[in-house]
Amino acid sequence: MEKPQIYLSIAHPSGKEKQYISEAIDSNWITTAGPQIVRFEKALESYLDTPNPVVTLSSGTAALHLALIDLGIEPGDEVICQDLTFVATINPVKYVRAIPILVDSEKDTWNISPDVLKETIADRIKKTGKKPKAIIAVDLYGMPARLPEIIRIAADYEIPVIEDAAESLGSYITINNRRKFCSTFGDCGYLSFNGNKIITASTGGALICRDEAQAARIRFLSGQAKDSAPHYQHSQLGYNYNLSNICAAVGLAQMEVLQKHVERRREIRFRYQSELSLFPELEFQNELPNYVSNYWLTCVLFPSETLRDEIKKHLEMNRIESRPIWKPMHLQPLYKDSPYYGTKFGEYLFERGLCLPSSSILKDDDITNIAALINNYLKNHG
Ligand SMILES: *Cc1c(COP(=O)(O)O)cnc(C)c1O
Repeated sequence: MEKPQIYLSIAHPSGKEKQYISEAIDSNWITTAGPQIVRFEKALESYLDTPNPVVTLSSGTAALHLALIDLGIEPGDEVICQDLTFVATINPVKYVRAIPILVDSEKDTWNISPDVLKETIADRIKKTGKKPKAIIAVDLYGMPARLPEIIRIAADYEIPVIEDAAESLGSYITINNRRKFCSTFGDCGYLSFNGNKIITASTGGALICRDEAQAARIRFLSGQAKDSAPHYQHSQLGYNYNLSNICAAVGLAQMEVLQKHVERRREIRFRYQSELSLFPELEFQNELPNYVSNYWLTCVLFPSETLRDEIKKHLEMNRIESRPIWKPMHLQPLYKDSPYYGTKFGEYLFERGLCLPSSSILKDDDITNIAALINNYLKNHG
């Protein structure tokens, strides 16, 4: 029998999905409103232990788009973005015709460098006479960025921070003996429930809003910006970005296993590290003191790009999916003309980094087998 394909990151049902979908259908809430949406939003607020209101939306990308509109970002404004990320972090900046200013990562978290961020803000003010209008910080692969420092710098210049926590639901930083969860730092933050994330709603996203007023504005914009009038009246440009209640039913079912998924992805990360410990030249993404990553994906840096590519091929021949680390935005044809600041540490990660299968459904044996393939390859070719 052919070996089953192992994917990088796939959905892991809790078993409650069918029940909650049936409840939604039986009550005829088969639309972009309904009790499952309300329960899903409440479950997220409670898990994140935040007083800030959560608004679910049709995707993480939609959440960022609305956040930028709500912050008043206009054509020609500059928005600082983490350079090493998935393209969805940057595209909404283009949707509002603002200019992305790309900032390199730093070596510990692989996320936006506070030092380069400071230089960037100062240089943009010098060059344009205006400060950037927002900063988008990402928690890559689940690892919290240096958020306390980033927020301090942003506060000095009174620039709002949007936290892209699409990959980091369940990650947190302990501050004064209290867990502060990713997505609740900064002015607002967003999550994604795409099928490959730590939990899924099949698709979907959420904005963790600053306050009720912002939440109300986001709901207004996501529902076609209907003015309160007895007829259809519109004075603002709206969007159709609401989450489906059927998707919310899936998300709600997944909330019951979120913590288990976080623990399992962490176990997988530490199992890979111990199974690959024969080769100390391999590097992993590591947590700073008081940082906890959900380790959405386990990423390994190999000593060379050639070796990384060979390992990827070797895994592929064994029906195992792996992916290079995100290609930095300044190397993307779409963003090659955007101003870039940094020392190209992101390129180093892109050239050597490989993301390994990290789904919470994987068994210990799967991880052992994948690590053995890598170990054997390195022994024979490294
Ligand atoms: C998945 C992802 C997004 C986009 O989320 P969608 O729900 O797919 O729109 C944004 N940023 C990062 C870093 C992501 O990984």
